[in-house]
Amino acid sequence: MQYTSTRNHQMNISSSSAILQGISPDGGLFVPATLPTLTPERIAALADKDYIGRAQDILKEFLTDFSPEEIARCCAEAYGQGCFDNEKVAPLSCLTPNRYLLELWHGPTCAFKDMALQMLPRLMTTAAKIAGETREILVLVATSGDTGKAAMEGFADVPGTKLLVYYPQDGVSHMQKLQMTTQDGENLAACGIKGNFDDAQNGVKALFADKNIAKELDAQHVMLSSANSINWGRLVPQIVYYISAYCDLLAAGEITTGEMVNVVVPTGNFGNILAAYYAKTMGLPLGKLICASNQNNVLTDFMATGCYNRNRPFYATLSPSMDILISSNLERLLFHLLGDDDKAVGMLMTELAQKGSYQLPSAAFSVLQTGFWAGCCDDAKTQTTIQEVFRQYSYLLDTHTAVAVAVYEDYVKMTGDSTKTIIASTANPYKFPASVLSAIEGTVPADEFAAAAWLEALTGCPIPDALAGLQQRVVRFPAVCTPGDMWGEAEKLLAKQK
Ligand SMILES: *Cc1c(COP(=O)(O)O)cnc(C)c1O
Repeated sequence: MQYTSTRNHQMNISSSSAILQGISPDGGLFVPATLPTLTPERIAALADKDYIGRAQDILKEFLTDFSPEEIARCCAEAYGQGCFDNEKVAPLSCLTPNRYLLELWHGPTCAFKDMALQMLPRLMTTAAKIAGETREILVLVATSGDTGKAAMEGFADVPGTKLLVYYPQDGVSHMQKLQMTTQDGENLAACGIKGNFDDAQNGVKALFADKNIAKELDAQHVMLSSANSINWGRLVPQIVYYISAYCDLLAAGEITTGEMVNVVVPTGNFGNILAAYYAKTMGLPLGKLICASNQNNVLTDFMATGCYNRNRPFYATLSPSMDILISSNLERLLFHLLGDDDKAVGMLMTELAQKGSYQLPSAAFSVLQTGFWAGCCDDAKTQTTIQEVFRQYSYLLDTHTAVAVAVYEDYVKMTGDSTKTIIASTANPYKFPASVLSAIEGTVPADEFAAAAWLEALTGCPIPDALAGLQQRVVRFPAVCTPGDMWGEAEKLLAKQK
């Protein structure tokens, strides 16, 4: 399978190149030129396999220049023994007879980013081997909190790679910050940015586009890559879990062959929901894709009006991983909605860069509205949702998943749609213990670890070891810089002894 760029349809590259480069030189994102198809028979055959088997089958079709052995090894290493604390990797939990939570947070960093970032470093180093790439790979990541830690965990001490993570200094939870600043590994570092996530993301994009930096890297025999969800190697493992969830429902007899299922996704950069879109386009019987936002509801407005407008206040919410006004992966959806029209995508993206807004042409907008539904929810509603779900079902939601549950309830009220629904559950609640506890109890201790202990005593849900142990760890990466100084931090990391 070949890949093309959302801004240059002439581009035609292999999957290994797409993963190695991360972003296209024309500024666009790599997308598959064709998609594999999922027939009912194939879905039934996948339903008989375990998670690793399903992942191998799907990845094989997208990564056609990887050998089957290479794919098998990547899948076994990413999802095999000891990596995830649940043997199903991404299990479904039935909340009510029609509502299933797809728990994507059983990996080492307790957020759904592990689903992709346990895989990406393996895909990237394998891709380097396939491409005969001898340069060292410097991976730069902008994070709203969860990607950074998951990337660090995935890339720690991976030979031939270095990783630098930029996070908004005041835009992540205490747990998230400690997870990043205490990470082990000699090939990586984290740095706080005086700004929000969009500043960090734009800063990283600017480093990629900088000609002087490119020269400096050439001289040092280093290539840049990205572990953000703009990298195709992040998206492809995410397609797997939607297919796997559908297979689990089939195997459990909860649905019949061909039955439609809706999907709700708490959305920030539009990566997770885009993976559901690809699964649906491949033929997985998915109905509505419901896009849930917090108070940063730029996507809700976009799906209601066709106008994307980032000129609005930025809110720091209780669901920080969704505090995003520029959803990078939307560019991929635009490309598909616009019938692969690279020029049209380029024009919209230029408008976004220059004016902060653009209007989707009406034909593409009606296609968007048929497939998607969008809603948003503020912090107060997020907290009442956590409280109500806990009281009714003894199930503890994290703040991001709570946004999805709240928006889904609005969806059902407004449409009366009773189709069975998979709700993506994106983080373990103990990543945000103070917010979750205050939702249930009304008050919170000042310290997040005390909040976690209280929450554990109250609910009986155990704190994951990876989070409980953070309190004893030493901060290794205290650095903070301005968006203008981001490259300086990368130079320090590059200068470190290999
Ligand atoms: C990253 C993240 C999201 C948003 O996912 P996107 O792919 O960026 O839309 C939602 N919830 C949590 C917990 C996250 O870490």
